[in-house]
Amino acid sequence: MNYDELEKLAGQKEDENWAFRSFLKFYDDLTDQQIDRLVHELTDSVAADIDCTKCGRCCKQLKPTLTTNDQKRLAKALNITSSQLQQSYLEYVQDEESNCWQMKKTSCPFLKNRKCIAYESRPQDCRNYPYLKKPDFTMRTIAMLDRTRTCPIVFEVIEQLKEHLAFDAGNSAGNIW
Ligand code: SF4
Ligand code: SF4
Repeated sequence: MNYDELEKLAGQKEDENWAFRSFLKFYDDLTDQQIDRLVHELTDSVAADIDCTKCGRCCKQLKPTLTTNDQKRLAKALNITSSQLQQSYLEYVQDEESNCWQMKKTSCPFLKNRKCIAYESRPQDCRNYPYLKKPDFTMRTIAMLDRTRTCPIVFEVIEQLKEHLAFDAGNSAGNIW
């Protein structure tokens, strides 16, 4: 896949993907837990063929959170102190939803030529993205459909999930709620 074409491809799939969301809502051949297991298996298989170090699209759009251990590990890899890391690159966010350190800027300063300069020491939040392996996939479909525009792994997992569940895009056109 040409990663630069992803936004266009995902845009072309938008109506179909919303119809798939509706299909999933009423799908009862598998339980939600079985769909989770299938999504996790597809994620492992798709991610094995996609090289994040040649993509970096999520790093341009997200502000990952960093635990104390994340900060120590990342600071060490950057050869600076945790306090320098906080002062130069992080902000502390405390509101109704968050109480954590996170990256200050949306295009991460550690992304160079599509690759994280501290890839092996990246924060856990970066490792967990695109969060396909969290439970309750069927409850998180809006976020996932949105993520098809950013992450080629999500795009491909959704395409393969449609095939596995025998979703008929032709029959479902217009079935959007
Ligand atoms: S720390 Fe690395 S993996 Fe995380 S957002 Fe920044 S560039 Fe991407
Ligand atoms: S997680 Fe997705 S968007 Fe981020 S670098 Fe990997 S393939 Fe690209």
